[in-house]
Amino acid sequence: MTKRSRKPFEDLGSKQKKIRSDDHADENSSELAYAAATRSKEEGHDDIASVIEYMMKNPEAAVTINKTLKKPLKTVIFTPEKVLGLVLSLKLSKWQYITLGEAAIREGAEGIYASYYKVQQTKLDCCPPKQSVSVTDSSARITLQALLDITVTRILQSLSDDVQNKQLKLISKWGFDGASNQSRYKQKMEGEQDDSSIFMTTLVPLKLTDGDNTLWTNPKPCSALYCRPVQFTFVKESEAVVIDHKRQMDDEIKALIPTECSNSNSVTHQLMMTMIDGKVCTYLSEARSNASCYLCLSKPTEMNRLDAVTSKTVCSDICEFGLSSLHARINCMECLLHIAYRLDFKQWAARSNEHKEMLQTTKKLIQNKFKDELNQLIDIVKQGSGTTNDGNTARKFFEFPKKTATITGLDEELIKRFAVILQAITSGEKIDVVKFKDFARKTAEKYVELYDWYYMSVTVHKLSIHGADIIEKNDIVPIRDSFGRSLRVSK
Ligand SMILES: [Zn+2]
Repeated sequence: MTKRSRKPFEDLGSKQKKIRSDDHADENSSELAYAAATRSKEEGHDDIASVIEYMMKNPEAAVTINKTLKKPLKTVIFTPEKVLGLVLSLKLSKWQYITLGEAAIREGAEGIYASYYKVQQTKLDCCPPKQSVSVTDSSARITLQALLDITVTRILQSLSDDVQNKQLKLISKWGFDGASNQSRYKQKMEGEQDDSSIFMTTLVPLKLTDGDNTLWTNPKPCSALYCRPVQFTFVKESEAVVIDHKRQMDDEIKALIPTECSNSNSVTHQLMMTMIDGKVCTYLSEARSNASCYLCLSKPTEMNRLDAVTSKTVCSDICEFGLSSLHARINCMECLLHIAYRLDFKQWAARSNEHKEMLQTTKKLIQNKFKDELNQLIDIVKQGSGTTNDGNTARKFFEFPKKTATITGLDEELIKRFAVILQAITSGEKIDVVKFKDFARKTAEKYVELYDWYYMSVTVHKLSIHGADIIEKNDIVPIRDSFGRSLRVSK
């Protein structure tokens, strides 16, 4: 290897730096220092050059500096807020925390950790007033107003700049989802309820602006860290439950008043319901079948007639529902897989026994190949509910279009196009709506050209036909969502 192609010196680790500089070991040290100074000057690092020159002239100064560098590190004292953060993310118990503090004291590091009492007090500051929370045997809920008040107050406190006399706006997203198969406990419940299913409403603050400037943005809009629970109930997700909770939230949102914060700041609230999955969307829209599009009410059999579908009027209110990127990825993968299973007979429904058999054989073959080549379990029914298709499987599916195409026999170009669309909506970057629309439409055309016999799934239809409109409507914040995950994390 020539010297030119070697890794740049700056990128090396300290050990490698030492090895590399051993090449010059036989040269005189002051010669080297002089060379270093000259080179630094040439490269524009005048400061470094002058320090080296000064050291060469005044070796006694180097001794003093060396002493300062070797001084023990200043003891860092955590603020109670920092400690509280640590205690919560490490899930430390009271005993664990106190033991940790005592160990630090024994080692002579007194006062690194605040007293447990102080941490408790700090935690109380993060809590909403008690009267805003109501708890029953099977549910817990906080009033939306109280939750938003405390959220925005805490965000303002965390800002380093002083904010005064401002009209601010906090944008948050919210949504709900159910999760079944929770652990069951022996506790008695009223009536018929059981604790194996939970239905939860959550809210995530996204952005605090004063109209022109953004004062705060949620650094991890997808993370469960910023997820604020509004309510949870032990109940199975059903149409009635969803509609009931939606109505209740709508009432509370309508009744919201601006939060009056310290320093005469007043904060209004904007809430967007984007954290929902296809099932909830369908419950809430007029479309009563999971397979129909809740935006334009297209039925499955109409999906592949692109011009007819595009000319339908779209219920613009529901555009606010946004796109759930996690579900989108999984659903797109499933739609493509279902095509792949049917490639031998090219029909939407496998009615005859012969076709059913072909479908099963191909499915098995594809599943095995995915397992052997990409280490992924695809479309395998899990005990309990659902399949092994999760975000990771879907990511792998679209990450290697060439491989996926070879395994499934699907068109590589089409898989690539879907990968690009999914990448765009999950990137969190601002999307060029015109370009997106064009790209999505061409993707839909390609789909119909290739697999006209298999009706597009609702998600594929939504992404390719309504994607641009939804993005345009929600353009203030990147459409991202982690609701499904955040709910499961707590399990
Ligand atoms: Zn539609």
